[in-house]
Amino acid sequence: MSNPSVEPVAVKWWGWGLESKTYPLDDKPQFWPYLLKTLRLAELRECPRVTYEQVRLPAPRLDGRTLARLKRVAGVANVSTQKRDRLTHSLGKSYLDLLSLRRGIIRSPPDAVVYPEDEGEVAELLDFAQANRISVVPFAGGSSVVGGVEPARRRGFKGAITLDLRAMNHVVDVDPVSLTATVETGISGPELEEALNRKGFTLAHFPQSFQFSALGGWIATRSAGQVSTKYGKIEDMVESLTLVSPSGRLETRAVPASASGPELKQLLIGSEGTLGVITKAKLRIKRLPEVRKYEGLMFKSFRDGINAIRETMQSGLIPAMMRLSDPYETEVSLVLASEPRRLTEKVTRKFGLWMLERLGYASPRACMMILGVEGDAASAKAERQVAVRACKRNGAFAIGSAAGRTWLNERFELPYLRDILLDHCILVDTLETATTWNRLETLHGAVKSSIEDALAGMGASGVAFAHVSHAYPDGASLYFTIIAPQVKGREAQQWLRMKKAATNCIMRNGGTLSHHHGIGKDHAPWIRQELGADGLDVLRAVKRQLDPKGIMNPGKLLESS
Ligand SMILES: Cc1cc2nc3c(=O)[nH]c(=O)nc-3n(C[C@H](O)[C@H](O)[C@H](O)COP(=O)(O)OP(=O)(O)OC[C@H]3O[C@@H](n4cnc5c(N)ncnc54)[C@H](O)[C@@H]3O)c2cc1C
Repeated sequence: MSNPSVEPVAVKWWGWGLESKTYPLDDKPQFWPYLLKTLRLAELRECPRVTYEQVRLPAPRLDGRTLARLKRVAGVANVSTQKRDRLTHSLGKSYLDLLSLRRGIIRSPPDAVVYPEDEGEVAELLDFAQANRISVVPFAGGSSVVGGVEPARRRGFKGAITLDLRAMNHVVDVDPVSLTATVETGISGPELEEALNRKGFTLAHFPQSFQFSALGGWIATRSAGQVSTKYGKIEDMVESLTLVSPSGRLETRAVPASASGPELKQLLIGSEGTLGVITKAKLRIKRLPEVRKYEGLMFKSFRDGINAIRETMQSGLIPAMMRLSDPYETEVSLVLASEPRRLTEKVTRKFGLWMLERLGYASPRACMMILGVEGDAASAKAERQVAVRACKRNGAFAIGSAAGRTWLNERFELPYLRDILLDHCILVDTLETATTWNRLETLHGAVKSSIEDALAGMGASGVAFAHVSHAYPDGASLYFTIIAPQVKGREAQQWLRMKKAATNCIMRNGGTLSHHHGIGKDHAPWIRQELGADGLDVLRAVKRQLDPKGIMNPGKLLESS
């Protein structure tokens, strides 16, 4: 049985989030007609999923003696070979993962799921796994979208175990003088924020997966939260960390900065479970913001919006977020806006849209930006002033705070829509990259075309749309969403063809292989191209040192499955 003290809330094994929750579409009457028109479909198909009872898992490979010894190491209650535990740890939440889960095709579940309770237990478990040729997957929230948590079935291994770290969820210490918090890495996003908020602090790391991901996963994937433009990515928030590897324990110094050679900490951040288990981190925290102001602006073109973000980022006064949707994403956002209930609101909205059109902010070129500032009142005001001025210089039209409020309230909801689309045989995926300002627009156009061409090549009229988020003085990330009718019987090939085309295009056009999702299994075939052959050798040498028998998360990051 899984550790009863940490029994999770009921989450979907086949999709995203809470079992009890879905994405509301009743108040968005334009959505289905828009989708049919965009994907050139006469009607929608139904793609039902299998029931839990219909899922069959391969039998666990660990023999009785090995399992009994594993239970002696971790405690009987902390080792599970039950179907639900193995199933919920078999895959992450990528499109491919959901395809497999919904069909009940689970090729490589862990043979056992172990719930260690402290760092000492993690060390003992790695010793045990190394001595017994058992591979180990560290598991935080399981929201990987790049195949990061799927155990690899490798010859020469007796089996695979997954270490779910959710019981290691304690805030060890908060230092209000240095503004740091020492935290175990199994802590989930909500648990961490609640604990910090109670003391008047925040980490300010809010990936869209926030509610169902955890600190260890964020650090291991170099994750980015929605307000990373102001507060940085997770690698900027970690002052020091502890890693338990099969070769021993590493703890980096807890100092604000150091000139003691290359930074070991940054080598371990982003290691995706391939070097060991990150058990603890000292995090840079912030005081809760006094002010949080989010608002909407419209631009006449994507280029205008990009220029506004660049000019703001290069001014030195950085807002929390400048999230600019391209024209296609802007259209989708408007279609997904809830229909107002009251007549006066309906009239106001209709008039607003008519006005925007009259002023030249019309589809198919207009782009929406959500601008957010946070912090103490004075700095938030100054940051807003600089950003709004840059937007106005580039022709923006302010549409007010309602758009900002809606975005804030719904910022974790959209992933629930993916499950509904999958129910109707629609491919839905996202991918992301980052590049410098001088290449951003070209990269955007090229990736969009590469995806749509690849989909068309398989007879599906799919679309890709994007937003610029996570901005820097020298560039920004691009985040693409792809929707297309599934090619019946060839769903996985269709995705692979699209993914290959997009990734090759990103690499050709000066983008990085990943800005924040990481490498996992899906991006591993391109890692040599990203790091260069010598660069990859350096990281592989580190892996040999820390994990000489290669038990840590094989088939991810540094090697293809
Ligand atoms: C709907 C949705 C929205 C998303 N939005 C964002 C977003 O806004 N920003 C973003 O950055 N990402 C996003 N992601 C991707 C994903 O949530 C991130 O990669 C996240 O950081 C993974 O965290 P997790 O706790 O779920 O980690 P997991 O999926 O459990 O693990 C991810 C990787 O880290 C390794 N790992 C986990 N814990 C440890 C540990 N303690 N020590 C060593 N290795 C470990 C795992 O082995 C695996 O390789 C999103 C995903 C989904 C499904």
